[in-house]
Amino acid sequence: MNRNERLKFDGEELTVIVSSGENQESGKVYLKSWDKQARTFRGIKGLLVCWAIGAISLGIPIVHFFSVPILFLAGFVVFFILNSQKSLIVGGMATCPNCQNETEIAKTANRWPIQDICDQCSKHFKITQE
Ligand SMILES: [Zn+2]
Repeated sequence: MNRNERLKFDGEELTVIVSSGENQESGKVYLKSWDKQARTFRGIKGLLVCWAIGAISLGIPIVHFFSVPILFLAGFVVFFILNSQKSLIVGGMATCPNCQNETEIAKTANRWPIQDICDQCSKHFKITQE
């Protein structure tokens, strides 16, 4: 079983060009998108997680003076971020243009071009859509 089979990504598969200087290779990334209803649901879930942690921290002396108000406000911030996040690159695999090894593409915002670092040689490369 190779690495591509082990790593399961959820989302739409996109073929990408991975480049570094003169070198060019190919790869795949997975784009996950959420509709309005799904975004609201994710936002509410995030808000409730923050509030739940805040509620649990009520039991910790001194810490709760900071954690409760911070997590209460963080809940709204998380809601706002998740509710406005329409899509996300959940990850991917590519051939590194520097060392020609398979490398994993990290989870990132759906903003192109994507910059990433090779797992194998630690060099930067750029990812663009075909
Ligand atoms: Zn590399």
